[in-house]
Amino acid sequence: MNATNLTVFIFFFMRKKMLISAYLTGEPLENGSIIASKSKFDTKIEASSAKMYFHYYGQLLHQQNMLQDFVRTGTYYAAVMENRSDFEGRVVVDVGAGSGILSLFAAQAGARHVYAVEASEMAEHAQRLISGNPSLGQRITVIKGKVEEVELPEKADILISEPMGTLLVNERMLESYVIARDRFLAPDGKMFPTTGRIHMAPFSDEYLYVEMANKALFWQQHNFFGVDLTPLHGSAFQGYFSQPVVDAFDPRLLISPPTYHTLDFTSMKEEELYKIDIPLNFVASVGTRVHGLACWFDVLFNGSTVQRWLTTAPGSPTTHWYQLRCVLSQPLYVMAGQEITGRLHLVAHSSQSYTIYLTMSAKMWGVGAEQGGILQTSTGKLELKEPYYRLSQPQSYMLQQDQQQQQLPSLQPQGSEQQMQEGLSPGITIDQVDQECGLH
Ligand code: SAH
Repeated sequence: MNATNLTVFIFFFMRKKMLISAYLTGEPLENGSIIASKSKFDTKIEASSAKMYFHYYGQLLHQQNMLQDFVRTGTYYAAVMENRSDFEGRVVVDVGAGSGILSLFAAQAGARHVYAVEASEMAEHAQRLISGNPSLGQRITVIKGKVEEVELPEKADILISEPMGTLLVNERMLESYVIARDRFLAPDGKMFPTTGRIHMAPFSDEYLYVEMANKALFWQQHNFFGVDLTPLHGSAFQGYFSQPVVDAFDPRLLISPPTYHTLDFTSMKEEELYKIDIPLNFVASVGTRVHGLACWFDVLFNGSTVQRWLTTAPGSPTTHWYQLRCVLSQPLYVMAGQEITGRLHLVAHSSQSYTIYLTMSAKMWGVGAEQGGILQTSTGKLELKEPYYRLSQPQSYMLQQDQQQQQLPSLQPQGSEQQMQEGLSPGITIDQVDQECGLH
């Protein structure tokens, strides 16, 4: 039996097994009949969203986009190869294998066997790629299905996956990664990546703010073919600010050292990803207008030999995730040394994304300051699934860099240890930002 036939057989077997177990665990209805229980994925995620999602990943062009993100793919390669001892002779599960690239890396690092689980039509392409690399492929089994649903013949020593979306959590694939851990990973097994961190800092970017506010100006027209459009201006304005901005920005736009929120993939419960509540507390380094909260993420491969980080920080080589900024429709005014407090609340929904609730506050100053203790508070509700990809104007930052350079001496990149700890990388690169944007 060749590899392809074996896979088809295993898959067929698994589907049957799944149906049987679904029948057995089905809920009895009042009239006595039994319905097959849905998988964890199906109960949480709307079918139409899942259909579009897996259709997207079923296309080679989107897999290519991720493979061509050299920071991403190169960091995974390095993390695997530098930690051969975690793979040599081990059983590996590739959670959401896509083209199968991470399975092939694991096999290169000496894995005894890799199970490449992929739910989209990409599974067929992965099978072809793996069969076409027979020296590695003979140790890889492609399994088409969701990690929430398929069965594997043995437990894994290590999981490898690339489940990160914009702001780390977009696409809700981290939940599948955690479910895969609970279903497939042997006790004390490893996870690559091991942890993830969401980094946040307030930013000041007048250009961005004006650009967004100006988009709604269209609705200020009183005579558009004889029609007064102004009744819709307010809604249009709020609509633009409900879109998180995705682009590569200069880290000198940050007005405070960043903070972060850690997700430990090895120990967290899947339910902890349904609602993520992050308290915010910053001290402004300069007196300025705060236009919102800038966010990015990194993940750690906690290998036995080398600990390697994959970062999407501003100033680091740009990835296809870029960074994300939540822009407030009402900016705050702060003085140097002033505290900025607030909350970032992420609520998952059935379209494989999150609604973002942002609150930022600072004590009043100027008129009203003498009253003391009065907060200026600005809030925003943003939809992570509908970002504004702002990737065509990298030039505008050049001007801004010069302006901000004088303002923010404390945030100049010095390649310092502190910055690395804060999740910022040394050096500033304004990379080409005209790559095609993928979900991941
Ligand atoms: N591992 C590949 C692909 C990463 S993109 C790489 O690093 O290049 C994430 C992949 O996971 C997509 O191909 C998507 O279809 C798949 N995926 C997402 N959720 C899944 C789930 N619940 N079960 C199986 N595959 C899933």
